[in-house]
Amino acid sequence: KELPADPITENSRRQVEKACFSYVMPKHTAQPSLIHVSPEMAEELGLSEADIRSEEFLKVFTGNTVLDGTAPYAMCYGGHQFGNWAGQLGDGRAINLMEVEHKGKHWALQLKGAGETPYSRTADGLAVLRSSIREYLCSEAMYHLGVPTTRALSLALSGDKVLRDILYNGNSAYEKGAVVCRVAPSFLRFGNYQIFAAREDTATMGTLVDYTIKHFFPELGAPSKASYVQFFQAVADATLEMLVHWQRVGFVHGVMNTDNLSILGLTIDYGPYGWLEGYDHGWTPNTTDRQHKRYRYGNQPNIGLWNLYQLANAIFPLIGEAAPLEAVLEGFKTKFGQKYRDMMKSKIGLYKADDLDLHLLDDLEENLQLTETDMTLFFRNLANFKKQETNSGAFMEVVGDAFYTPDEVSGEVLEKWKTWFATYQNRLGQEELSDTERKQKMNSVNPKYVLRNYMAQLAIDAADKGDYALIDELFVLLKKPYDEQPEQEKWFAKRPDWARNKVGCSM
Ligand code: AMP
Ligand code: MG
Ligand code: MG
Repeated sequence: KELPADPITENSRRQVEKACFSYVMPKHTAQPSLIHVSPEMAEELGLSEADIRSEEFLKVFTGNTVLDGTAPYAMCYGGHQFGNWAGQLGDGRAINLMEVEHKGKHWALQLKGAGETPYSRTADGLAVLRSSIREYLCSEAMYHLGVPTTRALSLALSGDKVLRDILYNGNSAYEKGAVVCRVAPSFLRFGNYQIFAAREDTATMGTLVDYTIKHFFPELGAPSKASYVQFFQAVADATLEMLVHWQRVGFVHGVMNTDNLSILGLTIDYGPYGWLEGYDHGWTPNTTDRQHKRYRYGNQPNIGLWNLYQLANAIFPLIGEAAPLEAVLEGFKTKFGQKYRDMMKSKIGLYKADDLDLHLLDDLEENLQLTETDMTLFFRNLANFKKQETNSGAFMEVVGDAFYTPDEVSGEVLEKWKTWFATYQNRLGQEELSDTERKQKMNSVNPKYVLRNYMAQLAIDAADKGDYALIDELFVLLKKPYDEQPEQEKWFAKRPDWARNKVGCSM
């Protein structure tokens, strides 16, 4: 054990000082039953079909059996929540079971919803079925989309009842409890470093940074001021990479607090997240953030940078010089601009350099927000646009399905689209790819299937009644988000009217 542990080994709520984690035992559950297992994740961990079907698997991944030689623990971290320092948070309902090496990869396995820990504060350490389904389906879907993310191995019912305030009607009600086993090389967050800075415990922070570099950034070599700066650079790069992917697929995290930002640049903590339906920079799925919309789609890159500032402040005492950290933060802005532009260009099938491309992209983003326009449908269908099209209204046949209110695509709005498509067509003339080649490339960055909010909700409603077929159907669908799946065209459609303004919630 390379990191300092909390000497107290019972789970009463407390401030845990000078330690990175506390040993805890997962809670025994009333009647655990398995709902779903990710075959891809199981394989990564070296688990066979027989392993998955065993009684032991069920017991281990619902917290009812602790394997010999393992010592479950909850991590200590703090964080800025909605811009304010919130003090100690920590794994309030996550328990790390063990770490596994397989095929040269290192994985930490963590149960979410397995009972209270020293970090549970006023809450119960449990998770309900609906939020667990949302995390389970979305994290694996993100993986298959090529977005850096924590993974999920299993989804199980605990058999216990969990009391929750149902956000949309304000009443309390019992819901089915569930446990997800999530998996990542590490679950370390910005907040794990911040907590020691806030407590002026530079020694423990240094130990944690050295540990992080040794295990997850070994290429940076031995601890030194220079390697700490390089570490920060690597975290900034990984965060940037993740954010560009989020913007590409229309994923809105919803709670980008510093305790929800992974030090490895993985999407972590699937709470009130959502997917853009109508392309809208101002959209957030988080109903508790509707006023300031801090975590809206268009603000995610800024918040990523804001969070990196907080991490820089936290590790500053190890370096003692602001300039190199500031240089990394400045670099983030330029790099993000470039990567975002190239990503957006790839979404519309442009690869050559042209000074006017920024305008073309700005105009596109403005047009997409003139009337509600489905992001996924628009970009996917745009690949069918023909370079040599002669009819200036033909674009409507290509992308018309994406408009939620086709009647409003008239007059000035229609003119703006005509103008945009004329410029776009002209610009396509500079590209060497044929229509077929361009379509193939565009389809590899514009997913056809994403986990729209209403899809997850349908799976939740059925699961609540004991029917898990839709969980499996969506799980399988979302393994191949870029492929044509002709039998599944029903999921390549605008959000139905009943699902308008409905969002999932996280607790
Ligand atoms: P989140 O907003 O989900 O990132 O959670 C913020 C903090 O609250 C983290 O420290 C969580 O571990 C903790 N937390 C959230 N839900 C629960 C719960 N049901 N029981 C205990 N702690 C929780
Ligand atoms: Mg969290
Ligand atoms: Mg959460």
